[in-house]
Amino acid sequence: METKEIYEELGIRKEIYDFGENILKALEERFKAIDETAEYNQLKVISAFHKERVGEACLSGTKGYGYNDLGRDTLERVYADVFKTEDALVRPQITCGTHALALALLSNLRPGDELLSAAGKPYDTLESVIGIRDAKGSLKEYGISYAQADLKKDGSFDLDAIKDKINDKTKLVTIQRSKGYQTRRTLSVKDIAGAIDFIKSVKPGLKVMVDNCYGEFVEREEPSEYGADMVVGSLIKNPGGGLAAAGGYICGSSECVENAAYRLTSPGLGKEVGASLNMLPEFYQGFFMAPVVTAAALKGAIFAANIYEKLGFDVLPDGQEDRHDIIQAVTFNDPNAVVAFCRGIQAAAPIDSFVTPEPWDMPGYDSKVIMAAGNFVSGSSIELSADGPIRPPYSVYFQGGLTFPHAKYGILSSLEYLLREGCVSLPGK
Ligand SMILES: *Cc1c(COP(=O)(O)O)cnc(C)c1O
Repeated sequence: METKEIYEELGIRKEIYDFGENILKALEERFKAIDETAEYNQLKVISAFHKERVGEACLSGTKGYGYNDLGRDTLERVYADVFKTEDALVRPQITCGTHALALALLSNLRPGDELLSAAGKPYDTLESVIGIRDAKGSLKEYGISYAQADLKKDGSFDLDAIKDKINDKTKLVTIQRSKGYQTRRTLSVKDIAGAIDFIKSVKPGLKVMVDNCYGEFVEREEPSEYGADMVVGSLIKNPGGGLAAAGGYICGSSECVENAAYRLTSPGLGKEVGASLNMLPEFYQGFFMAPVVTAAALKGAIFAANIYEKLGFDVLPDGQEDRHDIIQAVTFNDPNAVVAFCRGIQAAAPIDSFVTPEPWDMPGYDSKVIMAAGNFVSGSSIELSADGPIRPPYSVYFQGGLTFPHAKYGILSSLEYLLREGCVSLPGK
């Protein structure tokens, strides 16, 4: 049987397969560059495993208080090596990316301090953390104020605005690397490095935190190599490699990580407690796999961008642009297309492929949202997943793919569903 025929059995018509193959032909050079970055990052991870002497004993976890948890402590040193930081906190007790970011902020700021966002409006869930939207336990409730310097129209840092907003109270500056679900550029490590230099020249001693979600291993270097005092993220995104079942990380200076540890557990206890339970094998193996898994997700995003660009839709980033995270947005200007796209992704999933996603009123959103996520790990967005708010301009955000063949199949399936619904026609048809 030919590959094309297996696709047909899976519901992908020949014309779509051929269309995809033509797109792919033009992407060989870019995919090669992505493989080279993956190779570089893979070696970086392996050399950290070697340096820290990761042994079989590191894979068995602890229970109870978790004192002397060799595997946990060694894993944190591995993360610190890879991110080139003094220390790291990598724990299953950090429940998600938002928690990791909240932890970093709440532990490194004190009443009377001010937080400055240098990259405009932060990720939705951080609005509650900061207190932009009133919420129990927010920074605002603890007397920590907030200021924001928006990015310039072209998406670059507005250095004048940043300088303007830095005052006596400013203690910590946060920079979100990925665009998340906004329509701005994702910031490159180079962009971030320049901003950090500038920020530290305006007020030496100011701490800088980078929300690193979706950015890990996309480039050869991380923002922590350019003066960020903390980089923070989720283990059910890039660094968990699709295997970590939960968790988050904070890598940074000893002082920042120590502060975070004392808040995650307790004053007086810090990093010394926190049983790793039975999570360590997946944490290690996921981190080991993460460079190639991230590469697969990146290729999927680029493939999707080129497919939908060719069909005349607005895609962000566009088909040619350099990538700094794994998120791809496609704007359809058509609610039916958003639904069809997500149903196509779901139909290609390894888990729950038989489920039909429907738009629903998700808490915290002002419109219905549809989500496709046939995941091994619930909510994992390093796995092939898509979601779209049902509101103009009717965009979907697409990310992940543990393997490129799966990402490819998912994208072809999304197109198959769009065609079936009459939302699009193939060129020349
Ligand atoms: C996903 C994400 C978060 C929050 O992570 P959760 O695990 O969903 O809580 C924060 N910032 C950015 C940029 C993200 O992409």
